[in-house]
Amino acid sequence: MERQGLVIVHTGDGKGKTTAALGLALRAWGSGLRVLILQFIKGGQSYGELAAIDALKGVRDTIGVRQCGLGFTRRDEKRKPEHIAAAKEALREAEKEIDSGAWDLIILDEINYAVKFGLLAVGDVLGLLKKKPRPLHLVLTGRDAQPEIVDAADLVTEMRLVKHPFAEGVKAQKGIEF
Ligand code: ATP
Ligand code: MG
Repeated sequence: MERQGLVIVHTGDGKGKTTAALGLALRAWGSGLRVLILQFIKGGQSYGELAAIDALKGVRDTIGVRQCGLGFTRRDEKRKPEHIAAAKEALREAEKEIDSGAWDLIILDEINYAVKFGLLAVGDVLGLLKKKPRPLHLVLTGRDAQPEIVDAADLVTEMRLVKHPFAEGVKAQKGIEF
């Protein structure tokens, strides 16, 4: 029987959305699935996961990660048109990879955040979900997932903030946050 690919959403205001997606990537890759991670909002730091994925690639080249967006923050309102262009380009890339049949699991990291800040229209993301080939698993991460996206998904997890050391002034730490 053909696999039933899932649309999976990780949202909410607690930590763990991207790291849970990376954990899934690890599990899927280890099970022989081909995994692609597209980052819609890239940050400035060098991420530990990029080094880890490079190492995995050396073992079996069926995992990839690409940084597409520009790292939008609320303070960046002035450069919003550039961010919109980058997010749209990322969406086109996602569309191409989804159609390609080259992957079993694709993670669209921070795509919910890109919608939340008006870089992408929710309708464009819904269009992407509609076109998904049946066997493909698709993961969408980012806080404030739109209700339409939650409705369209098969599996939705909300990370809820209980406590975060940021509130105590502890800065982001290598290996934990990036
Ligand atoms: P992670 O990548 O650690 O799984 P995330 O994907 O759930 O985090 P994002 O909304 O993408 O969270 O935010 C990314 C960064 O913000 C991470 O460094 C994370 O530790 C931090 N962060 C997440 N949730 C909170 C929070 N509630 N308060 C402060 N910082 C947070
Ligand atoms: Mg994240």
